[in-house]
Amino acid sequence: MNFTPPSESSGLQQQRARIRELEAASRELDLGSARRSSLHAAVHSYAESVLSGLGDRPAYQADRSAVARLRAHPPGGPPLPAQRIIDLLEESVVRPGLLPSHPGHLAYIPGGGLYASALGDYLAAVTNEYAGVRFTGPGAVEIENIVVDWMADLVGMPPGNAGTLTSGGSLASLIAVVSAREAAGLRAADYEKAVVYSTEHVHHCLYRALRIAGTEDATHREIPMDQSGRMRTDQLARQVAQDRTAGLRPWLVLATAGTVDIGAVDPLDELADIAAQEDLWLHADAAYGGFFTLVDSVRPMFRGLGRADSVVLDPHKGLFLPYGTGAVLVRDRAAITRAHRSGGAYLQDVAIAEQTGPSPAAVSPELSRHFRGLRLWMPLMLHGLDPFRACLEEKLHLARYFHTRVSEMGFETGPPPQLSVVTYRWTAAGGDPDAFNRALLDEVLRDGRVFLSSTLIEGRFTLRMAVLAFRTRLATIDLALDVLAGALERTQARHPH
Ligand SMILES: *Cc1c(COP(=O)(O)O)cnc(C)c1O
Repeated sequence: MNFTPPSESSGLQQQRARIRELEAASRELDLGSARRSSLHAAVHSYAESVLSGLGDRPAYQADRSAVARLRAHPPGGPPLPAQRIIDLLEESVVRPGLLPSHPGHLAYIPGGGLYASALGDYLAAVTNEYAGVRFTGPGAVEIENIVVDWMADLVGMPPGNAGTLTSGGSLASLIAVVSAREAAGLRAADYEKAVVYSTEHVHHCLYRALRIAGTEDATHREIPMDQSGRMRTDQLARQVAQDRTAGLRPWLVLATAGTVDIGAVDPLDELADIAAQEDLWLHADAAYGGFFTLVDSVRPMFRGLGRADSVVLDPHKGLFLPYGTGAVLVRDRAAITRAHRSGGAYLQDVAIAEQTGPSPAAVSPELSRHFRGLRLWMPLMLHGLDPFRACLEEKLHLARYFHTRVSEMGFETGPPPQLSVVTYRWTAAGGDPDAFNRALLDEVLRDGRVFLSSTLIEGRFTLRMAVLAFRTRLATIDLALDVLAGALERTQARHPH
């Protein structure tokens, strides 16, 4: 054989040369100080132009043709200059559709976008702190646990609870349902006999959570509501008794503390009494309403919230954070921990550190995760609570003001809002009121200065206005009323009778 192996040193030399070559190319990803500064300056200057120009933009832009331009630059194409990327973002992302950070976002449940949160996110991403397990990220996990403890305290949950930050209320609801399932010891064979109770205004994410949790075969009872859209506790008690007699297994009560449709808060304290007597898991969906407990004047409505077995809050609604922050709190730490037990040999070092307190990875389906706590903790540290309280109370007053003003304009409205959602519809036109109100909403969206939405109340097309964007002010509501008046005039001109 005349095969000569390359000498070890020449093989290693080749390998080192190749690594150096690759290093030179991969250094592009690790920007130096000068390029970081210029990229940062371009991003910052764009962010400033968005924020200081919000008043000159529409809240909603119907023309979405520019979105198609994004496909002209598929990943894998030539690199683009930073300014070109920012321009694309402006024309194809920020402009078309709804601008959720706009004060005129008065639809669905508006979100926020606190600047201090954005910078918290920036720092979380730059340091890439890991907030999954305490062993590697002790401070990050501590911040997450501090904000979770603060929320548990806020809703009045006694010690011994645990919870975590999630991407939103939907994921938080899934964690709650799975915890409820584990706490009741329900196994597949039991699902058909299990019974879930809610009103018809329960948020649809809970149906989805029940399905993903495997429990969709459980019987779902819709309990009638009173005139204010609150669950009737006498009807719940009657239905639970009836189900027990029929040999079923009452399991879970899905209460809502602030319904999306009309902002109703179920009678939580009475529900907690029934749940305690009947050994049911009481879940309180406070995703929209929960942070209004910060406001003295409406706090009594939430009495009993801390007695729930699980509570879901959405800081990206009631604390005005950017999208991507929900929270779940579970009264019994063992229930949420058992529901998410797991392990892996490569994580054996981690268990040691768990003795010092729960880690987010132990109470959620996530392992690697974003350090969400910082976007919540940073504004709380920077602003204190008073401006949050004021902003939430302001929103309650704005909703009542809007309710009074649209009634004066001749819209049919329900009772004054319990929280910050107002429903109203125009019924004075004759003809088909559903079609008229739909046409009226179309006119509002064509105008675009504010963004409103609709719902079905008892099967009727009903207009809806929700105040929760932190930038919404009295002037915004006055503008919304102007826009509505104009839209009404144009709709009436098109629907003469
Ligand atoms: C928003 C909301 C949800 C769902 O939360 P996401 O953050 O959108 O996933 C659930 N329930 C209520 C009452 C809500 O307002």
